[in-house]
Amino acid sequence: MTESQVATSTTFVYSFGEGRADGNAKMRDLLGGKGAGLAEMSNAGVPVPAGFTITTEVCRHYYAHGRTLPEGFADQQHAALETLQKIMGKRLGDARDPLLVSVRSGAKYSMPGMMDTVLNLGLNDRSAEGLMARSGDARFALDCYRRFIQMFGSVVLGLEKRTFEEHLHAVKKKKRIVSDVELGRADLEALVRDFKALVRRHAGRDFPQDPLEQLAMARDAVFRSWNNERAVYYRRQNGIPDDIGTAVNVQAMVFGNLGPTSGTGVGFTRNPATGERQFYGEYLVNAQGEDVVAGVRTPEPISALEARMPDVYRQLRDITSRLEQHYRDVQDFEFTVQERRLFLLQTRTGKRTAQAAVKIAVDMANERLITRDEAVMRVEPASLDQLLHPRIDPKAKLEVLAQGLAASPGAATGRVVFDADHAAERGEREKVILVRKETTPDDIHGMDAAQGILTSTGGLTSHAAVVARGMGKPCVCGATQVVVDDKRRCFTADGVTIEEDDWITIDGGSGRVLRGQAPTLEAEVSGEFATFMGWADAVRRLKVRANADIPRDATKAREFGAEGIGLCRTEHMFFVEERLPHVVEMIMTAPRVKALEAKAAALERQRKGASPAEARALGAELKRVKAELAEPARRYRGALAKLLPFQRADFRGLFKAMDGHAVTIRTLDPPLHEFLPKREDLMAQVAVLNADWERARKRSKKAPKPARLGRLEKLLHRVEELHEFNPMLGHRGCRLGISYPEITAMQARAIFEAACDAAERGARAVPEIMIPLVGHVNELKDQAAVVRRVADEVMARRGTKVEYLVGTMIEVPRAAVTAASIAGEAEFFSFGTNDLTQMGFGFSRDDAGKFLGEYVARKILLNDPFVSIDEAGIGRLMEWAVKEGRGARPGLKIGICGEHGGDPASVEFCHRAGLDYVSCSPFRVPIARLAAAQAALRGTAAGSDQR
Ligand code: ADP
Ligand code: MG
Ligand code: MG
Repeated sequence: MTESQVATSTTFVYSFGEGRADGNAKMRDLLGGKGAGLAEMSNAGVPVPAGFTITTEVCRHYYAHGRTLPEGFADQQHAALETLQKIMGKRLGDARDPLLVSVRSGAKYSMPGMMDTVLNLGLNDRSAEGLMARSGDARFALDCYRRFIQMFGSVVLGLEKRTFEEHLHAVKKKKRIVSDVELGRADLEALVRDFKALVRRHAGRDFPQDPLEQLAMARDAVFRSWNNERAVYYRRQNGIPDDIGTAVNVQAMVFGNLGPTSGTGVGFTRNPATGERQFYGEYLVNAQGEDVVAGVRTPEPISALEARMPDVYRQLRDITSRLEQHYRDVQDFEFTVQERRLFLLQTRTGKRTAQAAVKIAVDMANERLITRDEAVMRVEPASLDQLLHPRIDPKAKLEVLAQGLAASPGAATGRVVFDADHAAERGEREKVILVRKETTPDDIHGMDAAQGILTSTGGLTSHAAVVARGMGKPCVCGATQVVVDDKRRCFTADGVTIEEDDWITIDGGSGRVLRGQAPTLEAEVSGEFATFMGWADAVRRLKVRANADIPRDATKAREFGAEGIGLCRTEHMFFVEERLPHVVEMIMTAPRVKALEAKAAALERQRKGASPAEARALGAELKRVKAELAEPARRYRGALAKLLPFQRADFRGLFKAMDGHAVTIRTLDPPLHEFLPKREDLMAQVAVLNADWERARKRSKKAPKPARLGRLEKLLHRVEELHEFNPMLGHRGCRLGISYPEITAMQARAIFEAACDAAERGARAVPEIMIPLVGHVNELKDQAAVVRRVADEVMARRGTKVEYLVGTMIEVPRAAVTAASIAGEAEFFSFGTNDLTQMGFGFSRDDAGKFLGEYVARKILLNDPFVSIDEAGIGRLMEWAVKEGRGARPGLKIGICGEHGGDPASVEFCHRAGLDYVSCSPFRVPIARLAAAQAALRGTAAGSDQR
């Protein structure tokens, strides 16, 4: 048996420093992040109050075995407590000089503020006397005791926090004091008495006086807090597994509430909002830790500590910068000063905004603390979305209501709401800004749904700030001019009253609160962001293209680093107002043209083998049919001819914007009915016109049928003809082009004429024509022939040569399966993973919303397959198609153009599957570039592991 196996099966409790936690991931699993950090700091000689950690395994056991503890645990806890008492030279509950401890949660992944912690444990009526005598400070001892009853009462005994707070508030009000610090000895004595009475009344039991009972109860409460509502919610939001459990840390208390030379604080080694290399933190004099985090008192900037106790400040800076060097990342730390003595209570990797993450990664690589490859791995691809958010137009005229702290960057606009439930409910439908005095962990669902968060108290490390940064939401906090009136549902600032529902804008990058909807500017890639993306580009293999249909999007895509267009949906060009009538004309005339053409062709055939007499008759009939065909054919071709210059201009614009990069153009894809008015609307209009006509006929029998009615009836008839039971699987994609090759030909002509225009200008245009919804190679053959014929014709006429490819989407499962034969015809593949998922799973994209949520919630599927590629199923189809396709045509170019192209997990899969490129919406291009880089780096790491 190895050492670690022994540890996992028999060691349930580790004293700080005993676990050899250094860099050992296994110990982190067991001790949780906080426990591992405390252990590691102790080992490094950082002043940390002594203590021990009860492992996550005990928590798992607790849940798995009907809330009981493993055998042998009690002895180990007892021994660890003995050791702690020996180190401290004090005993828990001692009547003369008691040891007090904190009982702290701490899971493997940091879940700030989501679980529970109890401070000052070990106090009872007797030991409170002891603490009083020993410290010579009755106020202090009583303050600890009332805090303990308050915390124990709410965390362990389940009383509402409010119960205590309201009482405290009432006392302060009666005494006309604002701050807890002003409570005198007699007040505190009364508070202790009252709090105990509150416990008795609400918990139906006396406040436990036995410290060992207190400890056991607090420990189990921490275990239980693993499954409180907000912790469960937080885990779901952050993809943290539900079954890993929390550790419990029992640690000797140090006291920040021992007067003016004591205090408590939190900080970051660099600015977590901007990433600037600036020691950053907050300090609260004469207070215990929870006061800062809870935002009940607004702390001072850390420079206050520097002013008061420069030595302590210097020591703190020294220790924390050592921690940053040691962990090679920004540290978020908690500390307490007890009568000029500094203690570190926690260190962890600092959560940061995307903007800060990028800056920190670039700075640390430049400082040689990490490598460039490590820097690339330090930023979550999806978080880049934040950097691409709009910011407030610096030239705009703004009405500034208040100036708060810039807690999390980005501009957010929305209607004001004052409570989290409201925000959660309304945020689904509209933009809201959650405005609170301060937020608490119970507000996170509302924060999640809001565009941004504004608080009037609380500092840069308050709950609101930390959570907002984690969510990547704009946040302004500590805007003291904002006076929130929850009852009247309004706030005032600078003499202005803002009611619920009024619009405001917050600028999390500057801390400004603005009235109304401020104008914003789009983001750009520059400075450190550009440097960072350059490093990412240097390591990625996968190319990144964008989905874009119009030159403006294509230009944006280029700015964001797209290396081509992976999907231009030509149908979007048809929806433009001045074009739509021609599209309608084309659709209205097409079937008649097709029917008459077929009839004519049949007559020709019959005439060939006919007797002279019959042939004459057939000839006459043929003439009649041809005459009948002339008018609709003229209109049909006329409509297409009208569309041609529009399309040509579109493609010219795209080629120009892409400046020599490939542009993949998909021929018409959606079913034709999408271009016509809705059946119900037409029916209603026809009914109204019919009724009018009816009335007119009552007045005069000869009233003519209105022309509009006739037109609408025809349109309705055509819409009914086009009606499909399952349009997704109906007459669409290449099936349209096969029925109406003139449409494909028109599009091809527009493409090649535009490409020739570019070539003649001396520019390069590289069209890649993509045939959608192919399931059988013969479908592709048919359409590719049309495209190639037009290409030859245009190029011959213009005397210009254009490089181009004809390929296909792989989006019908049959196409994936028969990829080898399809590759015989296709010069490239592009996976249309939306349709491939739809048809592979048999999930209608438009209807799956009804049940997919439940599937994911109940873990029938781990992810929505329309968001992240289902690797085990749809992914297998893709891998097969890649292998077969390249087997038939070595070097076949393969990409993906579904929504998945911008999803980091799917990008990683595409890298592994050997695709050449991914294509996604312009705003996701940087995300895909970074995801591709990380996939490449991970691939290398995996490769070297195997070696
Ligand atoms: P969270 O995970 O919610 O941050 P913590 O366990 O870190 O909870 O505890 C919250 C605060 O309580 C800490 O920031 C610290 O200031 C205070 N605290 C915890 N343990 C001690 C201790 N042993 N001595 C003094 N203060 C403590
Ligand atoms: Mg903490
Ligand atoms: Mg499709």
